[in-house]
Amino acid sequence: IEQTAYQNDKLAMLGKISASIAHEIRNPLTSIRGFIQLLRPHLITMGKDEYVRIILMEIDRANDIIYEFLNSSKPSAPQTTMISVLSLLKEVALLTESEALMKGCQIVLHMDEVDETAISVDVKQIKQVILNLVKNALDAMDGDHSHIQGRIEIWASRVEKQVHIRIADNGKGMDHHTLNHLFNPFFTTKEGGTGLGLSVSYRIVRNHGGSIAVESQVGNGTTFMITLPVMDVAQE
Ligand code: ADP
Repeated sequence: IEQTAYQNDKLAMLGKISASIAHEIRNPLTSIRGFIQLLRPHLITMGKDEYVRIILMEIDRANDIIYEFLNSSKPSAPQTTMISVLSLLKEVALLTESEALMKGCQIVLHMDEVDETAISVDVKQIKQVILNLVKNALDAMDGDHSHIQGRIEIWASRVEKQVHIRIADNGKGMDHHTLNHLFNPFFTTKEGGTGLGLSVSYRIVRNHGGSIAVESQVGNGTTFMITLPVMDVAQE
């Protein structure tokens, strides 16, 4: 028992140290970003606007990595509350509405089968997961795929003691290599991507006793399916 307690202490300590290092790196990044912005007009007259773009993009990427890392390294006792699946998904749809609109992409919710079903989850964490998936779906409409009318459909249904949430896009899809690596930390195919969204999402869903599955076809789109356990009111 002592051994376990000691190990846990060490882990908690490591978590604290990494969180404070992450905080300390953020401050200098913020001032670097500020000074580059100030230099921007000079660099542009020198014809170096491409350098400015790259510097800013890389600073933002470093910031994103720190942000995701801080989010995922927090002590992982989930703060669970009851929330209806419907309101959770509606909120995510609302949060992504403007980006979808800008891309001319439709987000359609199919919630008929989930009625009033509520789940007991860490709302912040699960919202982050769905948000990651919808944002990835929006990213999949970019580039050589952007001529196609983008459509993201979100289905929720209750199957016995589980809730199934399916997020389907008609974006560019994934090849075998991407499908085999997409849950690995830092795996990304995007310029400026962190490659942390799905590895963090995977861990969150697993911590909730659920699972994530994915199906994809190059050129046709991708479907993610999240399964989460439903807590019966009678059981609580
Ligand atoms: P990031 O979005 O920063 O790249 P993620 O972990 O969220 O990190 O995603 C990893 C990779 O998985 C992405 O770079 C992309 O190649 C692929 N991916 C994830 N979702 C989709 C999707 N809906 N359509 C196509 N590719 C996807």
